[in-house]
Amino acid sequence: MVRRSAVSLGRTCDSGCVFCAQRGLEPKTAEDSEVRRQLEEGRAAGTDGVTFVGGEPAIDERFEALVTRARELGFVRIGVQTNGWELAEPRRVEALAHAGLTDVHLSIHGAEARVHDWHVGRAGAFDAAMRTWSAARAAGLEIVVATVLTRSTFRGLAPMPRMLASRGAAGWCIEVARWRGAAATASDRVVPRLALALPFALHAIDAAEALGLPAFVRGAPSCLLGPWASRALAGDTRDYGATCHACASRTACAGVDAEYLARFGDGEIAACALVTRDERYAEVRAMFVGLGELAPPSPVIVAPSPQRARVALPLLGKPAPGKGEVAASSPKQTGDALRAIFPGLFEGEPTPRKP
Ligand code: SF4
Repeated sequence: MVRRSAVSLGRTCDSGCVFCAQRGLEPKTAEDSEVRRQLEEGRAAGTDGVTFVGGEPAIDERFEALVTRARELGFVRIGVQTNGWELAEPRRVEALAHAGLTDVHLSIHGAEARVHDWHVGRAGAFDAAMRTWSAARAAGLEIVVATVLTRSTFRGLAPMPRMLASRGAAGWCIEVARWRGAAATASDRVVPRLALALPFALHAIDAAEALGLPAFVRGAPSCLLGPWASRALAGDTRDYGATCHACASRTACAGVDAEYLARFGDGEIAACALVTRDERYAEVRAMFVGLGELAPPSPVIVAPSPQRARVALPLLGKPAPGKGEVAASSPKQTGDALRAIFPGLFEGEPTPRKP
């Protein structure tokens, strides 16, 4: 099996994803020497596959030369995590395939253009990603897809398995948004409640399985994954609640972001039996090398109590009364008014139901 390493080309990106876990970090491009060191260390560690990550690696002018360099170093599988915008340029994918690129890891966050475009902050992004996809298929490259699970994507997962399978995806990973960067800044809008969102992810994985599309999940607690806990990807380990100490699955579990636990408590998670990994798709599983660099943790807006946070979102700002609002001029409604409207509810025997 091909073992993969990840090589970061820096943090520069051409999208503005609402969940970006790198937002707030200074954009920077990795030095040549740093990229070379990462590639050589990957080979020295015995990996024979490499995935370039960012930011957006495809906007780096050195990218094609780096693919060639990776091939010269002996990597047999060379992939790129991309939003697909830059690679949609005519003949770009073809040239990269010629240089040695073997797989494209597209980020797609909805089955429709308006959903995906909103999440990445760029009109036309979905169509560009689809053009990249078509070019990659035509060049014989393998395509896997990552979808970030947010408060606004989870209800849109249902049509994705069919869309991805029909276009020939080799694998799909649903990644729970990290409480970092842009997601931390707008956590109430972005970070989903796990017990609410993960059932949608599990249904989607189930649907993908029925279509022959290997699907995985990253960054979710095993105890909320039911029969699909076996598809949890390693890495991206977060934090654990008090109940996790007694859990047989802890060593294989991604846990929950510390900020999430601080905000909502650990009432959704519960110790569970040891989960064994489904190794049938080891090659595809290995293609999901995970997120690049993360922005540092930011302070959590703590609700009055985790119990309260389950039912209420904090209101930012102060609600103002409507401008034309006036007090009701009619007398206060009482039970007597209701008696006048529905006398049958109050007087005599109930009307017998018609057979
Ligand atoms: S209870 Fe177990 S499975 Fe659930 S989050 Fe904690 S360690 Fe993970």
